[in-house]
Amino acid sequence: MLGDESARSAPKRILIVEDNDLNMRLLNDVLEAHGYAILKASHGEVALDLARRCHPDLILMDIQLPDISGLEATRRLKHDAATRDIPVIAVTAFAMSGDERRTRDSGCDAYIAKPIMLREFLAMVEKFLGGPVEC
Ligand code: MN
Repeated sequence: MLGDESARSAPKRILIVEDNDLNMRLLNDVLEAHGYAILKASHGEVALDLARRCHPDLILMDIQLPDISGLEATRRLKHDAATRDIPVIAVTAFAMSGDERRTRDSGCDAYIAKPIMLREFLAMVEKFLGGPVEC
């Protein structure tokens, strides 16, 4: 069926939640170059709305955001039946001990520290999405 064919070849969609323009551009460009479709939010509340409406395949969640924190946004995502199955990777500048624990306590599925090492980052994304290209 045509519908099945297009569904199979549709790019995986990643919601990037990041309030820093340069970080957003970096993540966007790297992921687009690897075949992913990108949704963007610079505020936690916007991210929650986008996640509910668009149900992306993966969410990259900055922790420090202008409104609610990425931890709080993740808590809400994981308490909402419509969004709790979406994997969330926390992206944080804090390299403090206990940070990974806090992100996991909030419901994040994984954690990556800034500055982002691209190879490690892409490997983690692919682990959750099964790779950008499915033949
Ligand atoms: Mn931030």
